[in-house]
Amino acid sequence: MADNIAKLANLMAACIGCRRCEKVCPSFAHGGCDPYLEMQGLDGNVGDCIGCGRCSEVCPSTDPKQVMLHRKQEVKDIQVPAAFAEFGTVSKPAGEEWRGEVPDMLPGKDAYFMPGCIVESRTPYLKYAGWKALEAVGVGSAELPRRSCCMYPVALRSMTDGQRDAYKYRVRDSAGGRPIVTLCAGCANELERSGVAAPHIVTELAKHVEGIERLPGLDIGVALEPGCSAERLREDFEAVVRATGAELAGNPSGCCGKSVPRISGELMAERQVECAGADAIVVGCPNCFRFYDAVEGGIPVLHIAELVALAAGDDSTQRFHALKITQKA
Ligand code: SF4
Ligand code: SF4
Repeated sequence: MADNIAKLANLMAACIGCRRCEKVCPSFAHGGCDPYLEMQGLDGNVGDCIGCGRCSEVCPSTDPKQVMLHRKQEVKDIQVPAAFAEFGTVSKPAGEEWRGEVPDMLPGKDAYFMPGCIVESRTPYLKYAGWKALEAVGVGSAELPRRSCCMYPVALRSMTDGQRDAYKYRVRDSAGGRPIVTLCAGCANELERSGVAAPHIVTELAKHVEGIERLPGLDIGVALEPGCSAERLREDFEAVVRATGAELAGNPSGCCGKSVPRISGELMAERQVECAGADAIVVGCPNCFRFYDAVEGGIPVLHIAELVALAAGDDSTQRFHALKITQKA
């Protein structure tokens, strides 16, 4: 599409060839993609891009992540899935059976929480964790009335920015002026790019550390792996974790690897090593969550909302985990 071609050309033309992106790219470190080459118009093996965004965080003059995502959509010819038109999300939402397995969510009026595609389709019980965590600190919330994608997924890069923005504005408008919080930092970042405020739930929880400290609390040691999109919120994560009584392992953090063949397994193996000894790995991203929970014999994972729910004495979502946490208290 002409709009996208012009946008990519401008972003690529702004590259000064410093190669900082290569140095931080987790895929490049494992023999995968090369954002520098791609920005030069050469073959950067874009199919191995994880979409983590580390390249754009360090780039002094342009936005290689955006180029990589668009190029990946083009090169791999990833088209908008049929589910998007039918459900508003890029994959079919999970059924509602899980609701019978957790207590009722009593809708509150302080905020809406936006689940996002991964929660809707893969980990719907995290909706309850989000609702419960907010309820535990006195914030009454309800699910956003209109199910929607944040418009981040690679498949949707075949649309123009204007077309994608229109969907983001529908998310904003469906809240009717009520604040929106997201369970996924990728959603929060993508919406923010278009001026739609929908901060990650950890930002809201960090405003209520005193309320979290009054909860029954936890006696566990946790490793923090916020996820690439949530790394910028590290201080909020640390404040919320400390308020629950959980002990921070102080581990370095990195990329879960998502689902790029070969590279993902190597990255996840690194994460498991750096988190060794922790009772649980705390994440802020539902997509990271599902990859950590799928590691055979791995360390149990908790979304930050589940950690607060657990501190409030509610372990309802544990039954859906492949890897279950063992609590000392
Ligand atoms: S960090 Fe930015 S400017 Fe430097 S090579 Fe990569 S894309 Fe180009
Ligand atoms: S988004 Fe991540 S994996 Fe993709 S090029 Fe940038 S740093 Fe590398």
